[in-house]
This record gives sequence, structure tokens and C-alpha cells, in this order.
Amino acid sequence: MNAKIELENEIANQAAQELENKYLLLTPGPLSTSTTVRRVMQRDWCTWDKEYNALVQNIRSRLVGMATAQPEQYSAVLMQGSGSFSVESVLGSVIPQDGKILIINNGAYGARMVQMARCLNIDVVELRYPEMQIPQLADIEKALEDESISHVSCVHCETTTGLLNPIQEIGRIVKAKNKVWIVDAMSSFGGVPMDIAELDIDFLISSANKCIQGVPGFGFILTKIEQLQACKGLARSVSLDLYDQWNTMEQQGGKWRFTSPTHVVRAFYQALLELEQEGGVTARYQRYLNNQQRLSTGMQALGFEMVLDQNTPQSPIITTFLYPNEDDFSFQALYENLKQAGFVIYPGKVTDLNCFRIGNIGEVYLDDIERLLTAIEQYRQA
Ligand SMILES: *Cc1c(COP(=O)(O)O)cnc(C)c1O
Repeated sequence: MNAKIELENEIANQAAQELENKYLLLTPGPLSTSTTVRRVMQRDWCTWDKEYNALVQNIRSRLVGMATAQPEQYSAVLMQGSGSFSVESVLGSVIPQDGKILIINNGAYGARMVQMARCLNIDVVELRYPEMQIPQLADIEKALEDESISHVSCVHCETTTGLLNPIQEIGRIVKAKNKVWIVDAMSSFGGVPMDIAELDIDFLISSANKCIQGVPGFGFILTKIEQLQACKGLARSVSLDLYDQWNTMEQQGGKWRFTSPTHVVRAFYQALLELEQEGGVTARYQRYLNNQQRLSTGMQALGFEMVLDQNTPQSPIITTFLYPNEDDFSFQALYENLKQAGFVIYPGKVTDLNCFRIGNIGEVYLDDIERLLTAIEQYRQA
């Protein structure tokens, strides 16, 4: 055989082997996507072409329609990069030099916002809680006695533990004080019903590869137009300038300022259609909820305790379990065993606590949860 054919065979074999070894992602994004979402990435698109830009406009208006029953006052901006880039784009584009932000932090993603704000030289007040605790409304009221605070931000589903922060109640306090209200709804938007006009959110951030079930490559910001218009010239970064990105998309019919992740955008459009086909956010929420409830009862029956207590609101997205109280328990061994069986689970992220996480979003159904529980049971008995 000549070298060229040998190389071709090797490349083809590797690709075939990778498909053979595929697993279900039980991680909160990137997550397992449908075959049809992956299939639409087969062709190339020109990032500056009208046809492609029309697709972008279609996506933007669908997102707004999904976010609220009062779409006129809102707009969607798509931003290149992972979800964190979109969070950083908001923090770095909406707070004036003399502004100050209160960041509610009860997990790794709240902590990341604090880190970003400090790095951007934004004046920050951090309201910090242990990862298993929801914020106290009285503390927020108290913190807002500082009149110089102009913005408040909070994570909705804290993916660190899976807890759901009470954004409705917090938002009421924030808006009563007339502050700009920023919510990281990265791992809940599309999977948990919410109306951003009812919640009076000014900037809501999410990304392609979470509950909408697209592939990773961009994030998006749903924003109240009048708030965004006030942000012209405030950005602390060129690439992540939210106002400029929005303005270009608005003025030029869906054009991104710089190269966009074209395949990812096309896949996201397909994912949006599939979300509608499923019955919209309410139906998807119900599927996730069923998955999560089966997962948590099944795991508890297998002897795993949940990290969040019963009084802490648990999201239908991801659940954190304690290591069992056994000297010989090894998360790494469980992880490897499950990977062999076709499932990837997630290590824990809670400080000082031995725990691991299992996500149940994406192309994941009750049978998958049943198969996972069986695989864990078999592993535990072996
Ligand atoms: C996934 C996620 C992010 C963004 O993470 P990336 O790795 O940058 O995509 C931000 N906040 C929350 C709550 C998340 O779940």
C-alpha cells in the first residue's frame, strides 16, 4: 500500500472509531445534541452574505419571541465565544466609569462575574454566600442602601450546585430601587419558563449550547432596547462591545461585526425549530423536570445523598450528589466505568465538599436516565 492510501485509511478509521465511542453528555453544556442539529452543519456559509444574515435576523426575533410576550421593547444580540464571553461583554459594555455593580455570588459563576468586573476595573460590591445557600432578600435591600450602586447582577440557575436563585423576588427589590438588572440565565433560558418583561430584566445572558440544545460557539444577550441604547461608547473592550455588536446587527440586517461561527449559527436555528416542535419551553421544562426527578429519586434509592437540602430550590437542569460515605469510593473509577457504558458525568465544583454532578439537559430522555441508573447500580454491585 502506498503512503497516501495508508494515511487516508488511518484518518477514516479514526473518525469511525470516534463515532463508535460516542457517549451521552450528562453535563450542563456542551450537551448531547440531536442528529438533525449536527447534520445541518454539513455546508459552509458566507458570514457576510445576505441569506446568512437573514438567518441571523430570524434567530434574533425568535429569541425575543421566546423571551417575552411583549417583544417590542426587547432585542437580541448574538456574541461570538463561549457563554462567559457574553457575560463579560455585558459587564464590560453597560457600566459607566462612575458606575458600581452589586454582584450576588453563591457559586462559581457568580464568582466569575466578580472576577470579570474586577479585571475590567469596575467598582464592585460582592454579596457572597456559601454555595448551598440562596441569597437573603434583606441583605440585598441593605446592600442597596449604597446609593452609588447603579447595577445589580445575579446568576439564575447556579450550575455549580444546580440551585435556582429567586430572580423574581430579587428583581423586585432591584427595580424598586431603579437599578439596572442583569441576570446570567445561561443554564436556564429555554429550559425554564420565564418572561423577561414580567421579570423586568434589563440584560439576560445565555448561550447556544445549553437549554436550546445547540452546539458551542456563541452566546446571546436579550436586552431592553432603551437600556442598551444608553450604553453607546461605554465599552471597555472592542471585540466584546455589546452596543456596537447590536448596532451593526440592527443597521446591517443581521451582520456580525467580525467573523461569526456560521455552522454553529445554522445549527442553533435548527435547535430553535426543534424546541418549537417539542412544544416550546413549557414542554422542554417538563421533560427536564421529569428527567431530574427520576434521576434524584433513583440516585437516592442507590444510596447517594443530594447536596442541596429540600428547602433549597433545585433546578431541573443539574443535580449535585455527595460521595457516598465509603472509604473505597472513587469518583474517577465511577466516571471511567460510566464512560465505558456510554455516559459522561461531571465532577463537583463545591468548595470543601466531595461531590459530583449529573446534568439532565440536552437530547436526554427518561430511558437514558433509566439506563444510567442501571449502569450505576451495576457498577455499585460489581
Ligand atoms: C455555562 C455557564 C456559563 C458560561 O460558561 P462557558 O463555559 O463560558 O460557556 C456561565 N454561567 C452559567 C450559570 C453557566 O451555567
